[in-house]
Amino acid sequence: MQTYSHSQVGLFTTCPRRYAFKHVERVDVPAAPSADIALGDVLHEVIRGLYDAARMSRVLSLADTLAIYAAEWSKPKRENVILTNERLTITDYIATGETMLRRFYERFQPFDEGKTLAIEQMFTFQFPHSPWQMRLKVDRLWRRDDGVVEILDYKTGRRLPNGVADPAFTRQLALYQLGIQATYPEFVPIEVAQYFLHHEELLRHRFTPDELDEETEGIRQDILGIRDAVRREDFPPKEGEHCRWCEFRTLCPAKRHRVQLEAEAGEESSTELSSAQAASRVAEAWLQAKEEERHLRSTLAALREDLIRIASDLDITTIAGASADVVVKQSLVDALPQRSNQEDDYVALSHLARRLGLETAFKLDTNELLKLWRADRLTAEQREQIAAYITSRQTAKVSSKKRRSDAVDD
Ligand code: SF4
Repeated sequence: MQTYSHSQVGLFTTCPRRYAFKHVERVDVPAAPSADIALGDVLHEVIRGLYDAARMSRVLSLADTLAIYAAEWSKPKRENVILTNERLTITDYIATGETMLRRFYERFQPFDEGKTLAIEQMFTFQFPHSPWQMRLKVDRLWRRDDGVVEILDYKTGRRLPNGVADPAFTRQLALYQLGIQATYPEFVPIEVAQYFLHHEELLRHRFTPDELDEETEGIRQDILGIRDAVRREDFPPKEGEHCRWCEFRTLCPAKRHRVQLEAEAGEESSTELSSAQAASRVAEAWLQAKEEERHLRSTLAALREDLIRIASDLDITTIAGASADVVVKQSLVDALPQRSNQEDDYVALSHLARRLGLETAFKLDTNELLKLWRADRLTAEQREQIAAYITSRQTAKVSSKKRRSDAVDD
């Protein structure tokens, strides 16, 4: 049975190609964590130790806690972390983490509030009304003194969500609530919370059944997006800041060529063009041609306006050029509202035309139909009948893109 996790879904949203390398093709490349991830891992590990000790009626001293923190950073796997902020060194990250940990310790020691039910524990559960399972790791599950079971997630990054309605808060925690509800139906009521160590802020929420349903549907749609990509074997690269710490850059179709050119730039020069350099020349020729086309288009648009004005001013329909005539034909034409600029009128007219039985005026909107198909918004019967017409075809789009700083591989 296929199993997904919140981070898996997040990875697909961030970059489908990276998702495919990691979870579909399972390409084995050495991976180093980003400094932010490493900092999060270390702090989660230390906090786990604090609450584990408290469950055995022991309180780790601040000095011991900081010693564990330092020891975690000295583990071999922390050696090659990737710095995600060029202005910060690894020492800065460690110092920031220590400050967060000290404040956390002061605020929550002796770590015995309520009853801890689970710490850093993995759960797997059947996602509602689906054939797949979800896996999640809960940072702390505890019963508060007021009887509420709280799912608490620790956040060590700098980003604070825009309140409890922010999808960055709701999507993950709704999934956690679904998991805990499925595993422990007797745990009621449940609240979800995120504690932001950097800001020392706690965001807490109790989902209404409607909110939970809405989030469940959102997660379902995300997973259907993954399943659709797997079915079509379509995982386009999605570049961004995250590429800087992607372990698949040398394999990525969006990065591989630049990586190769940069590697060749460091080698001894040869008089022969490599295939990478030849490809680069073709790309450059296309970019220049596109630039000329852009100039030509704007020149053509300006000349067109001039010709229309001249034809009106001189009250003529044909302007004689040196090599041929230019015909300017101006006329009044009937028009109907378009969906793009008069949506309300367009919808009203559509209803009217249907009421009047003007079926021949309707054209099948295949794009809309495809959207319904991809979002799985058709009934089983509709889906079955339409499936016979769904085919895959290769498409290609060539476009230019400004090179961003993240594209410069370090
Ligand atoms: S380098 Fe960027 S675009 Fe390529 S797979 Fe990695 S994250 Fe995606």
